[in-house]
Amino acid sequence: MKTKNWPEGVQCGVALTFDLDAETFWFSRTMDSMASPNLMAEGAYGPKVAVPRILDMLDRLELKATFFIPGWVIEHHTETCREIVRRGHEIGYHGYLHEKAYFVEQENELIAKAKKIMKDLLGVEPVGHRTPEAELTKETIRTIIDNGFEYSTNTMDRDCPYLHELEDGRKIVELPFNWLYDDSSHFFFTLQTPERRRICAPSTVYEIWRTEFDGLYEEGGLYPFVLHPQIIGRVSRVKMIEDLLTYMKSRPGTLIGPGKVIADAARKALMPEA
Ligand SMILES: [Zn+2]
Repeated sequence: MKTKNWPEGVQCGVALTFDLDAETFWFSRTMDSMASPNLMAEGAYGPKVAVPRILDMLDRLELKATFFIPGWVIEHHTETCREIVRRGHEIGYHGYLHEKAYFVEQENELIAKAKKIMKDLLGVEPVGHRTPEAELTKETIRTIIDNGFEYSTNTMDRDCPYLHELEDGRKIVELPFNWLYDDSSHFFFTLQTPERRRICAPSTVYEIWRTEFDGLYEEGGLYPFVLHPQIIGRVSRVKMIEDLLTYMKSRPGTLIGPGKVIADAARKALMPEA
């Protein structure tokens, strides 16, 4: 029998998530980016211009989202991040410098550092974990559970929510994703090596994403948006996302929300005993 992913009344979940990497998006390609004022400016466009535009769009649709934000970005764009919190959105963990962790010790250290910054500067504690660059270690899931997170959105092996379970019985909800739902796959252009040369028409991406959503809706799966303000925040693309979200909202039983809301709904169905 097919597992039911959602509680009564929910047909499909849409995790509305943004990765506000700002300048750190470029650090994780190469630290040399720091010496390039214009690469840094491309990153800064996210918090400076794109986030206010996106927040207004979300207000128009009366939707809340999760913003996964590296600690460095919170330190350097504090007011933008505070505005995100003020407008009722969730803040999630996304490293300090958007760096890949290689060891458990390093993962623990990064989590402690980012959590402290979130608490001190924003007054929030993250419950959602998304690792930068989708780079996990073999121990990441255990580390996430040890550090008290309520959900992980890190893996790519399914297109519905599921539970990770450790040998000791501890469990955590996973909201898996794929590059298909990531705006950078469709729109990321840079001349910096390694070069990326994708500038798709918003209508093409709308078509890809809407068709995928329609299929997942039929199956009762999870549609996980992975959006980067510096990429999706251009006017034509925000308009496309607004149209797509409006379409999704029109389908009965679609639950659109921040990762925590979607994970809580999935947990109700997957762990009815909890
Ligand atoms: Zn990121």
